[in-house]
Amino acid sequence: MSEKYYDVIIIGGGPAGLSCALYTCRSRLKTLLIEKGMAGGQLLLTERVDNYPGFPGGTSASELSERMKAHAIEWGLEYMQGEVASLCLDGNKRIISVGDDMYVARAVIIATGALPRLLNVPGEKELAGRGVSYCGLCDGPLYRDKVIAVVGGGDSAVEESVYLTRFATKLYLIHRRDTFRAEKVLQEALSANKKIEVILNTVVTSINGKEVVSSLNIKNVQTGEEKVLPVHGLFIYIGMVPATDFLKGLVKLDENGYIFTDENMETSCKGIYAVGDVRNKAVRQVTTAAGDGTIAAVMAEKYLKSIE
Ligand code: NAP
Repeated sequence: MSEKYYDVIIIGGGPAGLSCALYTCRSRLKTLLIEKGMAGGQLLLTERVDNYPGFPGGTSASELSERMKAHAIEWGLEYMQGEVASLCLDGNKRIISVGDDMYVARAVIIATGALPRLLNVPGEKELAGRGVSYCGLCDGPLYRDKVIAVVGGGDSAVEESVYLTRFATKLYLIHRRDTFRAEKVLQEALSANKKIEVILNTVVTSINGKEVVSSLNIKNVQTGEEKVLPVHGLFIYIGMVPATDFLKGLVKLDENGYIFTDENMETSCKGIYAVGDVRNKAVRQVTTAAGDGTIAAVMAEKYLKSIE
């Protein structure tokens, strides 16, 4: 078991965590970033980013992530892969455990983002990875010349539906209401796409198939009419669940598990900040994640000076 000391530890390597790291490193704070998967977080669930300023024509999501990581490393970020099991306090020390090792910081930034929400219908768990997917970018190419469905009505569902028609011959977009909450530009792309058939006021009640997905049971919530829809795959984009389990009551969460912060990104616990999609906030975008990260870095630096 080893113990290492830092000024700041950032948990999570998406745009919020990486932007924060850039600023803490440029303030010459000794910074460690711990990421359990690959740098980029939820950005890696999409192929392109069209609404990050400075990239006319859009940019590749994975390239943007790698650039953000390289930029922070260039300024001295220590980056490691690992899954944080717990975060606890000992006076001004914030102690993080990863496997058998302890990492101690004076300030911690939580940038763990959120995970895809499950639909919780029969067949979802059994057929996960065999026709049920939460990542168009990862699994889309498996559905070349196939018929697939997407469920959801937000930015992710609409954006990924359009992307998935690169592969699928036909795509049903199933949404439980009659209006989408997705950005207007995305809705325009949806309307213009001849391969997509929108099914409104409808929910998926079960996902069927022996070895792989073969059909869905769907139900119109207004008329009560039920139908079987033959498809080869279902992509579920019905929102996210914040990754806050490891906090075990340390900071105040809202009723959905998102972390409450003040406008300085500080949580209910001094010296612990939350940034990006894991935070209770109205707008979850790459730009707002980067903004959160910047604010937290500046405020963490002030906090560290105040306790010196
Ligand atoms: P979201 O905005 O929370 O939308 C979730 C969608 O799923 C809603 O349309 C919701 O329906 C539906 N839904 C929720 N639970 C459901 C259930 N049990 N059964 C059926 N449908 C259900 O989630 P998101 O699209 O993943 O986006 C998450 C955040 O990331 C948002 O802030 C979004 O703006 C952002 N984002 C931005 C971009 C971009 O800028 N290009 C891309 C992706 C995501 P209702 O509408 O009826 O509530």
